[in-house]
Amino acid sequence: MAETLFSRIIRREIPAQIVHEDEHVVGFRDINPQAPTHVLFVPRQAIATLNDLVAADAELIGRLVLAATAYAKSQQLADDGYRLVMNCNRHGGQTVFHLHFHILPLKEGVDLRPHTGQMADHSILAAQALA
Ligand code: 5GP
Repeated sequence: MAETLFSRIIRREIPAQIVHEDEHVVGFRDINPQAPTHVLFVPRQAIATLNDLVAADAELIGRLVLAATAYAKSQQLADDGYRLVMNCNRHGGQTVFHLHFHILPLKEGVDLRPHTGQMADHSILAAQALA
């Protein structure tokens, strides 16, 4: 598969606000957030879409879900609730072809902003970067 900018974020070649890192999974803030805390959790291994998963990826997907849900709990998002969303392919709303979960926290009276499908302006990242 063609490499995406997420591989470059994982390798820290381009800046992002990284909120979680372990051997298998990286979490970072979405550059066009649909909610005040909109975070993406990605496997270090580049897998393009849900359609590309094979049985051998079961453990990795489990790790991805567990890392994302642990983050949601650590940020006190779990009680109010959130969506863990994975878009698949163009009509499914996927714009970056490196598998990822969106964590989209929901609060009463606060609507999610629309998923625009716009690619990010990387110059914005420089201002956001923590590392
Ligand atoms: P998808 O549309 O594939 O489900 O989600 C891709 C997400 O990646 C979008 O929500 C988009 O805002 C985010 N995104 C695109 N480019 C960048 C980037 O360079 N940095 C970060 N942090 N997020 C990005």
